[in-house]
Amino acid sequence: MSQYTIFGGGPAGLYAAWRLLNSETLSPSDSIEIIEWGNYDYQNNGTGDRLPAGRICSHHYQNNVEQSYIEIGGMRYIEWDDTTKTGHQLVTTTIKALGLDQNSIDFNTTDNPLLFLRGEMMYQESISAETPAPYNTVGNENEAAADVLIGNVSNAITSDNATDRVSQCQFYATGELPPEFQSEVYHPGTLASNIGYWNIMYDQVLNEGYQYAADGGGYTSNVINWNAADAAVYNGEFAPGGTFKTLSSGFSSIFTTMYSKIVEMANAQGVPFTMTKNTRLHSIWDEAGTTQYHTATSNSPNTPSGAAKSTDYAFIAMPPHAIEAVADATRYLPQEANRTNFLNENRVATYLESVIHQPSYKVAMFFDREWWKEDDLPMPLNVDTATNTFGPTITDLPLRQIYYFGDNSPGNVGTPVYGMLASYDDMRYTQFWQELELSVSEQHDTPPSDNLQPLKGGSPATPAMIEMLKIQLARVHYGNDVTTSELIPEPLETVFMNWGHNPFGAGYHAWASHYNICDVMQGIRAPGRLAGLNSSNVFIIGSAFSNDQAWIEGAFCTTESVLKDYLGLPTIAADLDVYPLICGC
Ligand SMILES: Cc1cc2nc3c(=O)[nH]c(=O)nc-3n(C[C@H](O)[C@H](O)[C@H](O)COP(=O)(O)OP(=O)(O)OC[C@H]3O[C@@H](n4cnc5c(N)ncnc54)[C@H](O)[C@@H]3O)c2cc1C
Repeated sequence: MSQYTIFGGGPAGLYAAWRLLNSETLSPSDSIEIIEWGNYDYQNNGTGDRLPAGRICSHHYQNNVEQSYIEIGGMRYIEWDDTTKTGHQLVTTTIKALGLDQNSIDFNTTDNPLLFLRGEMMYQESISAETPAPYNTVGNENEAAADVLIGNVSNAITSDNATDRVSQCQFYATGELPPEFQSEVYHPGTLASNIGYWNIMYDQVLNEGYQYAADGGGYTSNVINWNAADAAVYNGEFAPGGTFKTLSSGFSSIFTTMYSKIVEMANAQGVPFTMTKNTRLHSIWDEAGTTQYHTATSNSPNTPSGAAKSTDYAFIAMPPHAIEAVADATRYLPQEANRTNFLNENRVATYLESVIHQPSYKVAMFFDREWWKEDDLPMPLNVDTATNTFGPTITDLPLRQIYYFGDNSPGNVGTPVYGMLASYDDMRYTQFWQELELSVSEQHDTPPSDNLQPLKGGSPATPAMIEMLKIQLARVHYGNDVTTSELIPEPLETVFMNWGHNPFGAGYHAWASHYNICDVMQGIRAPGRLAGLNSSNVFIIGSAFSNDQAWIEGAFCTTESVLKDYLGLPTIAADLDVYPLICGC
């Protein structure tokens, strides 16, 4: 008779409940509860603020699920290839198990995107010695795509020593700069994980090379000063031209379908299951070998409601920013004999800070026509093969990346609307848009930290934000000399999603340097045990401390690893010898 309490009903939390049930190892005397801060519409019937779950959110035009949608959170996956043993194995397996593989479609990315860099328009494939990218790089790094430059630095670091998931894990732990590595600062034999990626980029390609990589790659988060061993392995994944899949039913349909299967299996097996929304984990500790916690309501998130509760198995399925808020609240509970505040123990706290929080931002616009396919564009987009979502266009303007979703309405809604992910930006660019969230006549009347915007869903953009989007879209698509936003039609709807707001604090995470990633991945899963409580059954799951930090796959893999290693559940993962769920050390 065990109680399983899952804090956070995002991808990791829902997956934990789904796997506990589909393993058919529970009995009616066991119970599962999910405690979720948000008020997500898990049933997809209008009973919630937005579609689930966590950092996944399909936003349909005017919140009408029959209408076209744009993914304002995660949007795609890499299909598992059973021959090469690469891709997102657990996501692919889960999508199939949920019966959603029939909705799997290509997420078209062009390998010849339109670029707008330093005021110049160019196609990526036209960058050459004759027409280099507008950067004063010292070598010939501006004579090919920015991804080539990034790849060259990666190869110099890994020297082809990290080609599959097993050797990559090894490289995170022990990878050293190869004998041929040339640098004024870093010598061959230096542990790559103790080097910051920005530091080594500057060292190898100087400021202009770094700037080109940052601008032309589209993701600023890929070139921050994160763990160089991981960065060198990971950075190829987002390059334009990669092969991605998405779901025609929207990415949120993974989690509405998973939720209905959880309810169905719980009923069939007689296992009590409850989903408590609008409730947050406030604090958690160990009391003489028992896991105890306080919850708080979303109306009063800083005040514990009622007496402390206990559970047999606790899954903290929340991003690091939210876990740190729980650790903070726990820190101020009265100290008592037999009480261990494990989240604040030195080793746990050190490991919790092993990932860099990467704010990210999306702005969705809907139009009455696909103006981006019209003949008057001076440089037409490369859309020949696209039947649905395609992109990106990449710019150094705060828009950063644009994806074209078009009419993807699942229902028959009459007059179609056409969606565009007008800005997909991250890191410092998120601040550009954040200041446009309030209108020019507004001032803050509550602490910005109380702003829980991403829990609620896409928020309507202010007129100033819309104008700023339109003038940048006009320049990117019509040229730098454009002085009016009128080239872009008035959008029917514009909404933003700021993943930097609470409780997420980031869109995704990146391993910091000076950490042994494998060691952290292994240890942080069981923070109580890491703090010396050998029988503690508190587990941290989620994508942040995984091999796939910007992917649902990371959330599923860490959860699967906990269920397998600590609860002894038979795994649904295959090929673990070549595809470890998390790194082994
Ligand atoms: C802009 C963007 C683009 C992305 N692109 C992709 C992509 O294309 N493909 C892909 O696979 N992944 C993508 N990702 C990453 C993916 O969304 C995450 O990896 C995934 O959502 C992580 O799941 P999680 O369960 O670990 O955490 P989360 O999704 O963050 O879920 C955590 C849950 O915990 C809840 N919570 C927080 N605090 C508390 C509390 N105190 N008590 C109770 N509940 C709490 C939250 O409301 C949330 O529901 C993207 C993310 C962003 C933001």
